[in-house]
Amino acid sequence: MKIAITWDYELFFGERSGSVEQCMLEPTDRLLELASKYKIPFTFFFFFVCLIKFEEQSDCHQELQRVKTQIQSWDSLGHETGLHIHPHWEKSVWMDGRWQHDLSHYKLSDFSAEEASHIVERYASYMNSILAHPLQSYRAGGWCAQPFTPVAEAMKKAGIRYDSSVFKGGKNTTSPYQYDFTVTPSASHWRFTEDPAVLDSEGAFTEIPIASMNYSPLFFWKLFVLGRLNPKQHKPIGNGVPAKGGGSKKDLLTRSHRLCVSADGYFSTQLNRALRKAQRANEPFMVVIGHPKALTPFGLHTLEAFISQHQRNHEFVTLSSIL
Ligand SMILES: [Zn+2]
Repeated sequence: MKIAITWDYELFFGERSGSVEQCMLEPTDRLLELASKYKIPFTFFFFFVCLIKFEEQSDCHQELQRVKTQIQSWDSLGHETGLHIHPHWEKSVWMDGRWQHDLSHYKLSDFSAEEASHIVERYASYMNSILAHPLQSYRAGGWCAQPFTPVAEAMKKAGIRYDSSVFKGGKNTTSPYQYDFTVTPSASHWRFTEDPAVLDSEGAFTEIPIASMNYSPLFFWKLFVLGRLNPKQHKPIGNGVPAKGGGSKKDLLTRSHRLCVSADGYFSTQLNRALRKAQRANEPFMVVIGHPKALTPFGLHTLEAFISQHQRNHEFVTLSSIL
């Protein structure tokens, strides 16, 4: 089976966005070391606009340069770079020593079609200007890729052919999120035009969904208890605070949730279960999502064990080479 491990390379969006050093540079360096040790490629969905904002608002030119260097380094090593967009940063302002985010413009569909297309064009052309291997794939911030039509032309122009925003069975319509993947084609991947969750055999784009599965309340009990008992192993390297939304702690501890197969922290303990499930279903591939900012010492160790165990029998690939 082909396995693509993908990372959304970004800061946090909550009360504190965290530092570029701890959310992006440091954990990604560790991932790149891991990749080179096992000679496997990763895919990094890169969101850059926050860095431009940092450059405009405060004295972070050096950080911006280091991020560019890191991207160009992974690009030259054969890792894939994909486009990732959290458009609310367009409206974020620096006030009282921290970023104030306007979550009324959280997703591209909160902007006019013209504004949204302009955002896609601007981000994509910036990224393509620093990459040797141009963009081919896209992942929407917060999985909010519906509807796709308003940005379809801009995506085509940017060279985007693949989307990896959908995870089967996922749904979150709690503001600021808006996605519903409870009904999707049964195939492992499919063509689409207007909505990445709806098949259109003539579509210009191909959806390569992120793998998903159910997580029981017991899983979250363990996650929260272990985090308390051994914070050194389970505390993320990233130092920000996530945005609110996407289920309360109480909700997670009382009912089962359909979520992405993930390499983030304690979620990495479920990678083997996800792989067995994919094999039983005869899936041709498995796409895993992760975030450098959410990487923990424990998660990194578990991920390494997973890669080392399966490297011989499975093929680790980039997203655009999975089909
Ligand atoms: Zn993101």
